Amino acid sequence: MTAQLIDGKLIAQQVRDGVAGEVAKRTAAGKPKPTLATVLVGDRPDSAAYVSSKGKACMELGMGSISEHLPADISQDELEKLIKKLNRSKKIHGILVQLPLPGHLNEERVLQLINIEKDVDGFSPINIGRLAQKGREPLFVPCTPYGCIYLLEQSGVKIEGSNAVVLGRSNIVGMPAALLLIGKNATVTVCHSRTRDLPGTVRQADILIAAIGKTEMVRGDWIKPGAAVIDVGINAVPDATKKSGQRLVGDVNFAEAKEVAGCITPVPGGVGPMTIAMLMKNTLRAAELQDQ
Ligand code: NDP
Repeated sequence: MTAQLIDGKLIAQQVRDGVAGEVAKRTAAGKPKPTLATVLVGDRPDSAAYVSSKGKACMELGMGSISEHLPADISQDELEKLIKKLNRSKKIHGILVQLPLPGHLNEERVLQLINIEKDVDGFSPINIGRLAQKGREPLFVPCTPYGCIYLLEQSGVKIEGSNAVVLGRSNIVGMPAALLLIGKNATVTVCHSRTRDLPGTVRQADILIAAIGKTEMVRGDWIKPGAAVIDVGINAVPDATKKSGQRLVGDVNFAEAKEVAGCITPVPGGVGPMTIAMLMKNTLRAAELQDQ
């Protein structure tokens, strides 16, 4: 292996330790515990697992958490009433609505309703709008893209002036990751399912962020020698040697890419642990903003 391994588990732990230290200081000073409200609609097992790990992380860091679990057939009106109640509550500093919502609900309207000072997921149109504007700062940066940039910076990767390629243009990963890179003065190409020459475009990248959800699609010979590779993808593949019968791999063929890249995140243990760490950081920030 020639590439330096970017250890997301270790870096996420450092972020969590920093947050826990700040939370302890706040509590000692008599300030309220940063508290996150999670809103889960329906019973998708993946969403339930994400929400539960977010609540667990709050507990581990000395923060508060409240979980609201609503039936899958809840009406738009009822869901909006709950968001408004959480917006008003002085005890809640951050609100996270677990996506995706069931199809009959209007996700955009729900996200728009979250008070911007409590939008710890960073998905409200105001936060995303500020991210997209030169010279404006969002109050909160979406957690997964925030984690990607944090990993690059912690690994000493120079973003300014680099050619960055982002694979994927979703609202939650690809697009905000591209906006963050532009804000840090990279020259950014965003690829998607209709991009013509994906390998040729990726070969230009000093920094590659892959977020397409396609098992090991990026091959080693697509990678520019020495590039920084951040693999966001989480894909399950069958593996008879595992108790669960499967294992997780990324969007990048790690075995090939590590021989060419300068540094690379593994899957699992790369971007995954960063998402919750950054959510905790955002929730602490929300509490600090609401102190004022
Ligand atoms: P989406 O399905 O919302 O978006 C996928 C994007 O990839 C779309 O923009 C799509 O293009 C593009 N795409 C799909 N197929 C191709 C292809 N063959 N060539 C080029 N582009 C393609 O996914 P998400 O952004 O939500 O997630 C992406 C991956 O990241 C998933 O594996 C997901 O599990 C993982 N993830 C990991 C997180 C973490 O914490 N580590 C958090 C969130 C996601 P188009 O727009 O044209 O459809």
